[in-house]
Amino acid sequence: MLRLGVQVSISGGLSKAVERAEILGCNTIQIFSRNPRSFKRVLRTEEEIEEFREKRRQAKIYPLFIHAVYTLNLASPDARFYRLSIRDFIRDLKDAQHLGSEFVVTHIGSFKGSSREKGIKRVIRALENILSKMPSSLNLLLENTSGSGHWLGGDFKEIAYIINSLGKSEKIGVCLDTCHAFSAGYNLREAKGLRELLGEIDDYIGLNKLKLIHLNDSQDELGSYKDRHFHIGEGYIGEEGFRRIINHPQLKNLPFILETPKKKEEDDFRNLEKVRRLYKNL
Ligand SMILES: [Zn+2]
Repeated sequence: MLRLGVQVSISGGLSKAVERAEILGCNTIQIFSRNPRSFKRVLRTEEEIEEFREKRRQAKIYPLFIHAVYTLNLASPDARFYRLSIRDFIRDLKDAQHLGSEFVVTHIGSFKGSSREKGIKRVIRALENILSKMPSSLNLLLENTSGSGHWLGGDFKEIAYIINSLGKSEKIGVCLDTCHAFSAGYNLREAKGLRELLGEIDDYIGLNKLKLIHLNDSQDELGSYKDRHFHIGEGYIGEEGFRRIINHPQLKNLPFILETPKKKEEDDFRNLEKVRRLYKNL
């Protein structure tokens, strides 16, 4: 069965996110549990949380992915900010557990002017700390990036190195963002590129660790290192590329979440329809 959803807004309250998902016909969703560009924490009432959990149960939305906020950086070379990032990340995980989420998705971080090696060391240390305090019901997914500038995680071998340094943790997995992978140089437009990417994930991490696909087309060419998501089939990955990804035997049973542009009301409907049409339509 196709598990398909979008990133939905929580504006107006958490329960609104479920209502939006139901209108769109989604059976899985991703949300930010608070403003992704702010440091502000939110205090929610037990009623609000219970209402959200109940609505979600009724709407049969599974899994619930919570995307970590953009303000934290687990690779920061600034000691004070690094500590604050770990502290807030752990608090956000507790909140995610409270909301009943199964997965938290995060970018790996930026080494910002220090060296890549040092950045990777800091991320590993941060993740060790975070995993030791992970609520048992939650899993953490590391998302690949477009690999621009000082961002870590554009290369799956780098993600593999981080994950494999954490020992045998069941609590950590991977999210594949198709737009980011394409901008980082994995040619998902072609069958060969998809095969090579999945081979790399399998060889270095294990495909069983791949738990989520962020389905986004790319507004930029292969290897552009840019991060500009686009409507499914209308960018450089293209319709054939997505047909292959969505129907791939090792991917088709994973949840797909769209993070495509929402300029107009109908954009989400159009992108979701496109995926449904491509699914099984080989
Ligand atoms: Zn993404």
